[in-house]
Amino acid sequence: MSNLEHGLVSTRARERMVREQLVKRGIHDPRVLAVMRRVLRHLFVDEALAGRAYSDATLPIGEGQTLSQPFIVARMTEALMLSGPEEVLEIGTGSGYQTSVLSGLCQKVYTIERHAVLAENARKRLRRLNIHNVIYRTGDGTLGWPEPRQFDRILVTAGAPVIPETLIEQLAIGGFMLIPEGGKKSQELVRLVKQSEREVKREVLEPCRFVPLVGARGWSGKH
Ligand code: SAH
Repeated sequence: MSNLEHGLVSTRARERMVREQLVKRGIHDPRVLAVMRRVLRHLFVDEALAGRAYSDATLPIGEGQTLSQPFIVARMTEALMLSGPEEVLEIGTGSGYQTSVLSGLCQKVYTIERHAVLAENARKRLRRLNIHNVIYRTGDGTLGWPEPRQFDRILVTAGAPVIPETLIEQLAIGGFMLIPEGGKKSQELVRLVKQSEREVKREVLEPCRFVPLVGARGWSGKH
């Protein structure tokens, strides 16, 4: 297949993914749908898995970690209600797919990954894709961003046993955090809205399944 033919096949696969997996299941935000149509998901997984990149499935990305199915990426992105000027903290860079989706919808993404190999691959991939509004750190995201600062949105893409206090502190007033909270194998997707320094509103969006958030204020990583 030529590059041009390959390009057309992948464009069609993304259009089908958006129609069948996102729109049919209730994703409506046109900005989210546009970015999901644009980001080349097949470049975020091993070449051997590229043929499955647009299927309704999670995919392995190395180091025992997984890239969420397109619907969950879209659902979380929509629930963040980004309008453009926001600064977003993301915990769990993984392949960088979710990072790329966010980078197209906000001002700047600050992203933390605990596995150095994944962090480095994501950084190289995004550079190749000409994405320059992302700042990367390798480390334990349960401790928050290493410099003191606050974010308009925080997105955690791994399952936490409890919501780390440090992350609540780094959320700006009026900001939201989305975080899967619960057991090691299944969690609830929780949205926290920081109404004032002391008032945090909590809503449960839906059940979800993420790999564990491993760190000082997460799971121990031994099991
Ligand atoms: N959003 C990613 C996939 C996330 S999988 C993507 O689009 O590909 C969850 C990721 O969170 C994994 O890469 C895992 O290594 C990372 N992770 C788990 N605990 C972490 C922690 N405490 N700090 C930073 N990253 C963490």
